Amino acid sequence: MSKDFVPGLAKGMAATAKQLFATPHTAEYPDVAPELPARSRGVIALVESNCTSCMLCARECPDWCIHIDSHKEEVPPASEGGRARQRNVLDRFAIDYSLCMYCGICVEVCPFDALFWSPQFEYAETDIRDLLHEKERLGQWVADVPAPPELDPGAAEAPEVGAANKPTRGGRR
Ligand code: SF4
Ligand code: SF4
Repeated sequence: MSKDFVPGLAKGMAATAKQLFATPHTAEYPDVAPELPARSRGVIALVESNCTSCMLCARECPDWCIHIDSHKEEVPPASEGGRARQRNVLDRFAIDYSLCMYCGICVEVCPFDALFWSPQFEYAETDIRDLLHEKERLGQWVADVPAPPELDPGAAEAPEVGAANKPTRGGRR
């Protein structure tokens, strides 16, 4: 028997005894909801009114799991003699969560703040086809998106906030 056997055994027993009386780390989910970090990647929420159907997210998605359909609509000129414009109207926006790898690229690249992470993760399905979330369902996740964190003291105001608060010519906001 090695001379290190007894001290080693005692050390092991001491570690076991310590764990016997330690508070367990086991999470009692689903009886107790987990405390998730604010920036958890649970599900992607779509703010449909912000989406311009630019397709950037679908093109950058490494899994090709974003499906977008849209059509063009003519917008009449704002004033007489002006030129009519065209705008995209979103017909379909869907994310297939059976393929999504939660990389967050789509949220990062969206130039119009239409995609946000929600920490909600309880959307497991028994049928894999139900993991295809259409825009109506993606829109429902918006309610779970946490508010952005407060700015650091002394930080400059975001240009968007300044622009939104600027009085219009008629003196109204
Ligand atoms: S998180 Fe990544 S994989 Fe999932 S939809 Fe967005 S870009 Fe695609
Ligand atoms: S990048 Fe943003 S605005 Fe463009 S299609 Fe995707 S969600 Fe819509």
